[in-house]
Amino acid sequence: MRRRRAGPFAARLHAAYTGPVEAPRSLYLHVPFCPQVCPYCDFHKMRRHEGLVAAYVERLEDEAAALAARFPNPLRTAYLGGGTPSHLRDHELARVFAALRRCWGGLGALETTLEADPGTFDAERARRWREAGVTRLSIGMQSTQDPVLRFLGRGHTGAQALQAVRDALGAGLHVSLDVITAVPGQDARADLEAAATSGAQHVSVYTLTVEPFTPFAQRGVRVDDERAADDFDLAEAVLRQHGLERYEVSNHARPGFESHHNRVYWRGDGWLALGPSAAGFEPPASGDPPGALGVRTRNPPIKTWLRAEPPERTPVNGPELTLELLMTGLRTREGVDLARVRARTGVDVATRYPRALALARQHALLRLDGDRLLATRAGTRVLNAVLRRFFAEAAA
Ligand code: SF4
Repeated sequence: MRRRRAGPFAARLHAAYTGPVEAPRSLYLHVPFCPQVCPYCDFHKMRRHEGLVAAYVERLEDEAAALAARFPNPLRTAYLGGGTPSHLRDHELARVFAALRRCWGGLGALETTLEADPGTFDAERARRWREAGVTRLSIGMQSTQDPVLRFLGRGHTGAQALQAVRDALGAGLHVSLDVITAVPGQDARADLEAAATSGAQHVSVYTLTVEPFTPFAQRGVRVDDERAADDFDLAEAVLRQHGLERYEVSNHARPGFESHHNRVYWRGDGWLALGPSAAGFEPPASGDPPGALGVRTRNPPIKTWLRAEPPERTPVNGPELTLELLMTGLRTREGVDLARVRARTGVDVATRYPRALALARQHALLRLDGDRLLATRAGTRVLNAVLRRFFAEAAA
């Protein structure tokens, strides 16, 4: 099995290791096929062709069986992401669901999310997904304005996106919508209002980013930083007005509709990874370095994944996990439980990062509520800069 170095701080940081990650009860499954290739996207995705999809499904069944032999606990949450999982045909998705049932006795007992493109399903398909055990659709609406959708290279219209929400809700599915803001020419308020009043219980808002080597980067598309910051605040204000509270930097939900699966990531719990380029977080195995609390896994891209090449494994020790918990936890409304971090990693954040912590508190970017460390409203806006101070202090 290939191994990567243990991360940037492994050589320098040492502490007591007290809490390995528990056996995962969550699964991320990557479907790399998309109806179109959007010019801003840098995910692992491709157009489908029959031979490739057939080979993909077959390999997925084998990988699931091997994974379940090591981690047989029934799943609490499952997330089918991509790519565009709804771009699989019914018979292909049926095989994927059957594999999950065979391997783990069912889909996620608490939540199963399927990412869906508005142009790939109707009310009848949504009903079949619900019957198969899917509980939640994450719909890639992005915008309701057709010129914006065309600019983003999407294949659907605004009307189709809103119809997709009605179809999903009518089938008894919970709905999360993706919205992209700071798009040139977009009326962001109109899109946020449309998402908030669509009936969706959850809205994820992302700022358009121009990633290197994407068609947008080649075309020189630029995102206006000031506009991006304004839209970030606008999202919170508009969605809150309609009963959707921001509970993570990008995520807003009506009470009780927060994503269970994403919480697994943010709390540093374990999850399994299936499919090309899928990432997971597993308990350490024999052969991993002493002191590893967990292992990040990353499957190879589809070509080598189809040949059953094993995932890349990156062990994570206590100090590294502490930084990761700060990085993900501070993005959330619930913040970071420092007592839990101490118990899991052996690292006391207050004594390990006195300068970063003091500076952030002095500027009212972070605040302590008992043992809980939280980003303030101002801190949320500049979170990356706040976190950089913790990383710098770790490396000092
Ligand atoms: S549908 Fe999603 S994953 Fe596929 S190319 Fe577009 S943005 Fe990327």
